[in-house]
Amino acid sequence: MTSALSPAMDVLNRVFGYPDFRGSQRDIIEHVIGGGDALVLMPTGGGKSLCYQIPALVRPGTGVVISPLIALMQDQVDALRTLGVRAGFLNSTQDRSERQVVEAEFVNGELDLLYVAPEGLGVANTQRLLDRGKISLFAIDEAHCVSQWGHDFRPDYLGLSMLHERWPDVPRIALTATATSATRTEIATRLQLTDARHFTQSFDRPNIQYRIAPKNEPRKQLLDLLRSEHPGDSGIVYCLSRASVDKTAEFLAQNGIPALPYHAGLDSRVRAANQSRFLREDGLVMVATIAFGMGIDKPDVRFVAHLDLPKSVEGYYQETGRAGRDGQPSTAWLAYGLQDVVQQRKMIESSDGDAAHRRNASQHLDAMLALCETVTCRRAQLLAYFGQRDEAGSCGNCDTCLAPPESWDGTVPAQKLLSTVLRLQRERGQKFGAGQSIDILLGKQTDKVQQFRHDELKVFGIGADLRDQEWRGVVRQLLAAGYLAVEGEYGTLVLTETSAEVLRGGVKVMMRREAPQQRVRTPRTRAGASPAAAAPDFPAEAAPDFERLRAWRAATAKEQGVPAYVI
Ligand code: ADP
Ligand code: MG
Ligand code: ZN
Repeated sequence: MTSALSPAMDVLNRVFGYPDFRGSQRDIIEHVIGGGDALVLMPTGGGKSLCYQIPALVRPGTGVVISPLIALMQDQVDALRTLGVRAGFLNSTQDRSERQVVEAEFVNGELDLLYVAPEGLGVANTQRLLDRGKISLFAIDEAHCVSQWGHDFRPDYLGLSMLHERWPDVPRIALTATATSATRTEIATRLQLTDARHFTQSFDRPNIQYRIAPKNEPRKQLLDLLRSEHPGDSGIVYCLSRASVDKTAEFLAQNGIPALPYHAGLDSRVRAANQSRFLREDGLVMVATIAFGMGIDKPDVRFVAHLDLPKSVEGYYQETGRAGRDGQPSTAWLAYGLQDVVQQRKMIESSDGDAAHRRNASQHLDAMLALCETVTCRRAQLLAYFGQRDEAGSCGNCDTCLAPPESWDGTVPAQKLLSTVLRLQRERGQKFGAGQSIDILLGKQTDKVQQFRHDELKVFGIGADLRDQEWRGVVRQLLAAGYLAVEGEYGTLVLTETSAEVLRGGVKVMMRREAPQQRVRTPRTRAGASPAAAAPDFPAEAAPDFERLRAWRAATAKEQGVPAYVI
């Protein structure tokens, strides 16, 4: 290397105003400038955009960016234009004359970057248009959307394999923040990125404190958290339904916390206004469905709270990853209860799609439940999910590290519970939700117990040694471990293929004991890291290998005679 500034560094400094590259940005950018294909796996906030923006500025022609985030294209393009980058976009929100302006700019070679929606590329007109200009590269952002087994599938992404067929000489860079090694292989295959170099960065976000609390009164718990630990902070609260978003935003506002709602049911102007206030003002809380956040870049989000269970670890990681992009200590807090498990299982069961899709959704959920029920370090488990090993084994900062949950041998209660479900089914031909089984075990003479004469069952009252709350924990953990399942509209409990192992005494069921008043107060960064450290640097890591890790967990669990979720 000569001492002269490389063109990439020059653009980084002069156009974007940053002194240095982060993580593997430099390698990726040099590779793409040289005309190579790349598949980039980098956590949210890692700085993926520069990986295609800089090569597009250095190489002759226009960089064509395919992104599913139509709602954000205007903002992204505006932000680039303020930096003096010649950027434009084409999507369905524009009228004919707006499109014509952008098309002319592209054809005349007046654009450095052109953002297009994936569905646009399927249109012959757009393809002909692209033939009339000079393309420097294709960037496929949020590339996991091509994966049919992922959590965010967009059918239009499947058509993107034609990029390589139609423009074989144009380098392509695919980028994503969420991909296990299986998804990565799928992305490479579907996009025909066979010769692409893979770049993978660490998923560790040491400044985020991960906490998962038992859900009792979620809104009140949230309010306590915000008042005691995050007064005046900006943050995001995720809820599953629009109704719950509205209610929660109202609840917070009534209690003196400036909160705004965001969901697809709101008028698009209200949505845009709320989003821009959140980005610009300090100390606002955005209460939203997961429709909010993809591509949102606000450095000082101090907390991300989930009032409902995310559908997958990928989703959880991506959503919590919006906290603490400035590297300062931040909280990822999730309230998790039995009702979440029941609700999500029901949603999967009643979803469209074939059995394979339901099985896939169910596996995603299982991994999320295992993270909730783990008795070991949350961060280590999260990294393990992405195939990365945490050197220390425990981070010293998450809730399970700071207040290690006691684990106990729950085999006998598990057998009692499963036996109740079995007897209801065998002796009475009945299925009930968790509440009824628990009432039976506790020996409660409720109306429903008397109506069905469940007090005559042999299991009636044999579970009086545990409290109602503890039984709910047992049910939740059995569901998380797959020893029990729910079905149907009413979320009735049913046995699974592995229930018999527990009933036979073939496996030991280790359970997490809930410390009722368990509280983690001070967010800290992990030992050794300075709390005031600047934006986290994500070192390049070996490619995650989720399959291998899963196999390892299963083998270790078997060896120790415990369910896999405790490993
Ligand atoms: P991603 O797409 O990976 O989630 P972005 O590309 O949106 O991340 O970048 C996240 C933030 O990091 C942006 O504010 C961006 O300007 C900033 N950033 C990216 N690269 C650098 C760098 N080399 N130095 C400083 N800030 C950077
Ligand atoms: Mg991005
Ligand atoms: Zn930990």
